[in-house]
Amino acid sequence: MGEFREYSICRDAQITLKKAAEDGVETAWDRYQKQLPQCGYCELGVSCRICVMGPCRIDPFGEGPQRGVCGADAEIIVARNLARMIAAGAASHSDHGRDLVEVLYSVGKGNAPGYTVKDPEKLKRLAKEYSIGVDNRGIEEIAVLLAEAMMEDYGMKKSEITLLGRVPAQRIELWKKLRVVPRGIDRETSEMMHRTHMGVDNDYVSILPPSGEEQPLRRIRRFHDRHRGIGYHLRDTTARDVRGKPRRHQGRPCQHSRTRA
Ligand code: SF4
Repeated sequence: MGEFREYSICRDAQITLKKAAEDGVETAWDRYQKQLPQCGYCELGVSCRICVMGPCRIDPFGEGPQRGVCGADAEIIVARNLARMIAAGAASHSDHGRDLVEVLYSVGKGNAPGYTVKDPEKLKRLAKEYSIGVDNRGIEEIAVLLAEAMMEDYGMKKSEITLLGRVPAQRIELWKKLRVVPRGIDRETSEMMHRTHMGVDNDYVSILPPSGEEQPLRRIRRFHDRHRGIGYHLRDTTARDVRGKPRRHQGRPCQHSRTRA
């Protein structure tokens, strides 16, 4: 089991990986090894293929190009890439939610055979959060009204989403300070895709507003390091890391992929 401890701290995952290896089943770890060395520019976030004038890349050592065809420098490319990753993640999760809301609507309308509201009290509690009166209303009617109210949260008719009341006060205070209180689910993801496109918002500070004393670019680099499990910063990276073998690949795989199998 030794070698699989490098891949996951979870014993179940280690057992599964061992079984996969014995059965000749390919896992993410096998595919990962075949991808090495991965592109150092992509790992640092300084490559871009947002538009068809690219792909472009910035030389982090100042010897090669410092701007993409559109004029974007390393800061704006990193900011766009990070913001787009976040928007893609938010869109993925929010659309799971949209499916559920649509099913709830269909249940209320009697158009979803096989589905029922299994916890009417929970439905009523949630309806109250959306200021929907539950007295003298049937479960089906409440389901329809709640689904319609939730659909509104995806749009842009409101100034903030309804379930903001569930967010801790400290977090809301920070969001207000940064002016990032979510207004509508679709609105935020669409706006991020729009603003990060070529020729729209070319200021990394407005894409990723600073939250304190720390400079935005430093924050982005720190996020990348932590998120990807990379143990080095841009300034510590050698030319070989970018153009040849990134240093982390010479040891064990990164934490980011440690649970994938
Ligand atoms: S958006 Fe700019 S940096 Fe990105 S691919 Fe297009 S031209 Fe290159």
